Amino acid sequence: MKNKLISIVAPMYNEEEVLGIFFSRIREVFDTVKRFDYEIICINDGSEDNTLKELKKFSNQDNRIKVINLSKNCGKEIALTAGLDHVHGDATIPMDCDLQDPPEVIVSMLEKWEEGYQVVLAKRADRSSDSFIKRTTSSTFYKLIDLISDIHIPENVGDFRLLDRSALNAIQEYRENSRFMKGLFASIGFREATIEYSREPRAAGTTKWNYFKLYKLALEGIISFTSFPLLIWSYLGAIVAFSAFSYGIFLIARTLIYGIDSPGYASIMVVLLFMSGLILLCLGVIGEYLSRIFIEIKGRPLYHTNGLFGFDKQEQKNGTPSE
Ligand code: UDP
Ligand code: MG
Repeated sequence: MKNKLISIVAPMYNEEEVLGIFFSRIREVFDTVKRFDYEIICINDGSEDNTLKELKKFSNQDNRIKVINLSKNCGKEIALTAGLDHVHGDATIPMDCDLQDPPEVIVSMLEKWEEGYQVVLAKRADRSSDSFIKRTTSSTFYKLIDLISDIHIPENVGDFRLLDRSALNAIQEYRENSRFMKGLFASIGFREATIEYSREPRAAGTTKWNYFKLYKLALEGIISFTSFPLLIWSYLGAIVAFSAFSYGIFLIARTLIYGIDSPGYASIMVVLLFMSGLILLCLGVIGEYLSRIFIEIKGRPLYHTNGLFGFDKQEQKNGTPSE
């Protein structure tokens, strides 16, 4: 009987330093579970260093290493999507190539998969390798999205997980441009198990994220998965209008009883500024949704590949139908 094939999907942006250790750690892991074959789909996300050159070299030496070269830097979410579009395996494992997701965890994932689970999540039990600010902002984000949206994104679970064929097919059907992969993963359902692992520090190189990028990702997550920020304004508007009405009645009554008072410049300014602020904020929120509608309606391709390496000839010629 043929061994089952596992596809590792790893987006890479300026990762020349870690490639060697990444591949050898994966090889070591699969040496211990010989009942599986594997392939590593590497996505070069428009790296500016020698990542592509190195990847081609590795791919020439080892036919299990396959390379998708994107035409520019598209960001991790899109790079991951490109990878997921090209896998051949019976199960797929997206992971970072900086070894923060330790490859050894794959063994327990495979065991759970063999028990019949279709999705196996890897939960970070220990995030001490992340900074305090990163931990608190991220936990606030998960609480918020839990509160205001219909999906439940498990906390401390990243993209590192195992997806069987049916879960992968489900993910491939989501073709939206604003992609928040963790949210998409959370929406598909399927029989799910969770295992815990401790997150390691980066093996080499530096993180590609900064707080502004993380903020944009969090915003993407909220806006893609809930319209609550749009709806809140009608409630707030109703409260403000009701208070304004009551205050109006109070002013009329006071004027009738005590006569005309001297004008209150300060209170008018406060109300004016507060209300203008609220209106601008509300317009901003509408703008966020509107801009996404605009992007989605154009239906542009998510990415363009600029060469596949290590895939079979036919695939290399065809590119991807689903781009
Ligand atoms: N990455 C990518 N494109 C980008 C930024 C990052 O493909 O524009 C990849 C990167 O090479 C790594 C993974 O996404 O494999 C996670 O990035 P990083 O380790 O910098 O993030 P962190 O672990 O610090 O959140
Ligand atoms: Mg990392």
